[in-house]
Amino acid sequence: MRIDKFLSNMGYGSRKEVKILLKSKAVEVNGETVRDPKVHVNELADEVAVAGERVEYAEFIYLLMNKPPGVISATEDKYDPTVVELLAEEERHFEPFPVGRLDKDTEGFLLLTNDGVLAHELLSPKKHVDKRYFAKIEGLVTEEDGEAFERGVMLDDGYVTKPAKLQILKSGPESEIELTITEGKFHQVKRMFQSVGKEVVYLKRLSMGPLELDPELGLGEYRHLTKEEIELLK
Ligand code: URA
Repeated sequence: MRIDKFLSNMGYGSRKEVKILLKSKAVEVNGETVRDPKVHVNELADEVAVAGERVEYAEFIYLLMNKPPGVISATEDKYDPTVVELLAEEERHFEPFPVGRLDKDTEGFLLLTNDGVLAHELLSPKKHVDKRYFAKIEGLVTEEDGEAFERGVMLDDGYVTKPAKLQILKSGPESEIELTITEGKFHQVKRMFQSVGKEVVYLKRLSMGPLELDPELGLGEYRHLTKEEIELLK
């Protein structure tokens, strides 16, 4: 791989910024200063250093996004912008994809990665990874709804959901709740409320497994997971 691509992948800025870095003689490959962005490095065998600091190559990228409404959680879409289009080029060239789907109008916690194994594990029905949602519901949400969700409700296609935990935060003509589910069926939260005769009017995912949405992230913003957070997911 070219040294400029390598350093850009490792978070040293765009190719243009990396070129400047190279010109400043800050980059060494196996102890030799390299200024030419076209120089090839073997990312596993060569020792690359920037300003004397060894750069460890990581082939995977793990991002946490606060998904905004109006954006599709996919890598491509014919009609609408996608979450991948919200990423900077330096992340995009890792070819990350969203781990699971949130509806176009759903906001909140979304992981993006190019680690197919981890994504598969997190989405596997066998793993029962908890997903916690905040929702506003048109209509009065009751303890009976909570009991029904605990037992499992039948969705419109006949599927009976696994036990889910409902917490009622505000009960009224527009109720507010948190719901924790362990599955990821299509429109699951909306269809669970539909099964008890109520409509979700706002939906936001708060967490997935051990990780919570970062309150520092505005809608559409994202950040890299820390090493510790990646370990927690594995
Ligand atoms: N359940 C839904 O209904 N929609 C989502 O986006 C996620 C879970």
